[in-house]
Amino acid sequence: MSIDGMNDINEKLSKKLKGIKFNEVLAPFTSFNIGGPAKFYYAAKNNKEILNAIKTAKNFDINYFILGNGTNILISDSGFNGLVIKMENQNILFDNEYVIAESGVKIQKLIRETISKNLTGLEYLMGIPGTIGGGVAGNVGTPTDWINKNIVEITIINGQDEIEVVNKFSGNFSYRYSRFKYNNREVIIAVKFMLKMASQTDIQKKVKKYIANRSHQPINEACAGSIFKNPQNKKAWELIDQAGLRGKKMGGAMVSKDHANFIINTGQAKADDVVMLTSYIKQQVRDKFNIQLQEEIKYIGFE
Ligand SMILES: Cc1cc2nc3c(=O)[nH]c(=O)nc-3n(C[C@H](O)[C@H](O)[C@H](O)COP(=O)(O)OP(=O)(O)OC[C@H]3O[C@@H](n4cnc5c(N)ncnc54)[C@H](O)[C@@H]3O)c2cc1C
Repeated sequence: MSIDGMNDINEKLSKKLKGIKFNEVLAPFTSFNIGGPAKFYYAAKNNKEILNAIKTAKNFDINYFILGNGTNILISDSGFNGLVIKMENQNILFDNEYVIAESGVKIQKLIRETISKNLTGLEYLMGIPGTIGGGVAGNVGTPTDWINKNIVEITIINGQDEIEVVNKFSGNFSYRYSRFKYNNREVIIAVKFMLKMASQTDIQKKVKKYIANRSHQPINEACAGSIFKNPQNKKAWELIDQAGLRGKKMGGAMVSKDHANFIINTGQAKADDVVMLTSYIKQQVRDKFNIQLQEEIKYIGFE
């Protein structure tokens, strides 16, 4: 496309999406601190803006990607050739033992607020740095407790750009999976959870337990959480460790010495370094144990 044509589209988009940015580098929006620019970047603060962004992308025939807190993705060095819609819808509504959180709310903020209202049920999510939308899409949690267990219903923008409420059973939840994970057509805008009243003493006991369980994670490093899902009846970190890969480095990417299922950006890592390291890990684990590891993280912009 000519520069004039490009300027024309940028101008039209600026009118439709106030505050849209062009060629916005995505690395700072990810916990890996890796990723090239988005051709178009728009932060949507409420449902109206989210819907408008989706419709605009469709009208202009632009690819779009929904970005939460960027804590479970690897964005390519060349970035994303389309519109990144960053979820900044932040409302939380309490109704006795029910709470409705918009999808851009950070999981940690929701836990703090529920605890302050003596509500228990989400403590097992302590330390998970994503948003409600990203968390529900990936059915996050611990090896034994996943976020779907507290969900009552999910409000989405469906493929026909309508707002629809779906119950938890139609979410097709399983370990680190939901029908929303690989499906860019449906966007989560709010989630209703059912919790229980409890005393602060009981809640704080749980908080301490779950924080202690995280002591082995490199939470202060640039990373994207677990790179691989646990294969059935196995732990990915143990397989990687037994393959002798703890501390293995390629370019700026390194297998964490604290937790072998985490890859760390040691400073200047490129997405390509991470891709080479994950491929190497998969090959080594396959050769040694005849097990095919599968990524928990999602790759963005590699098509
Ligand atoms: C230090 C660290 C520790 C972690 N520990 C854990 C852990 O213990 N357990 C665990 O399960 N995970 C863990 N994670 C992974 C990660 O935090 C979760 O998967 C997280 O909830 C992802 O949410 P996000 O907002 O960052 O999503 P993003 O990374 O922004 O997006 C992930 C996917 O969700 C999609 N998505 C985001 N928002 C929406 C929406 N509103 N509607 C539809 N799709 C959407 C995106 O398009 C993308 O495909 C950890 C990560 C880090 C960095």
